[in-house]
Amino acid sequence: MTRNVQKVLEESLLARKRENPELTVKFLAEWYDLPLHRVRYLLQKHELIPYKHSRCSVCSVKVTGRRKYCDEHRRMPKMVEVICAGCGEVFERKASLVKKMQKDPRYEDDKHYHSRACFGTYIGITFGFGQARTLEKALNTRRNNE
Ligand SMILES: [Zn+2]
Ligand SMILES: [Zn+2]
Repeated sequence: MTRNVQKVLEESLLARKRENPELTVKFLAEWYDLPLHRVRYLLQKHELIPYKHSRCSVCSVKVTGRRKYCDEHRRMPKMVEVICAGCGEVFERKASLVKKMQKDPRYEDDKHYHSRACFGTYIGITFGFGQARTLEKALNTRRNNE
């Protein structure tokens, strides 16, 4: 099919849809022997059918096309949940930072800490004799209580 023939076909399709708004995308695609997605695209472009909306996965605001996030949330860094090695609490951290830490040999065992206080506790306990067990015990008690 040359470009011109296609153009004529598409114009005829649009005119037909304008005159008969009840015609479906599927019907028009079969009639004009065009791919479904092409017909849908054409009709959307000429505002003969509405764009399909998806919703932002954070705030559920409508977004055009197949985007996953609204403008505001697209800019937000992706967060992942990690467990604080000091107190055992789950908290959120930037996914990019976690990835960086996994590659960095200075961070042993991918341990994460909420705060300096939790890090300090960890250092104190690990370096004090017999205290690692105390931390483990404390964490276990905490988990059992939840
Ligand atoms: Zn949003
Ligand atoms: Zn903590």
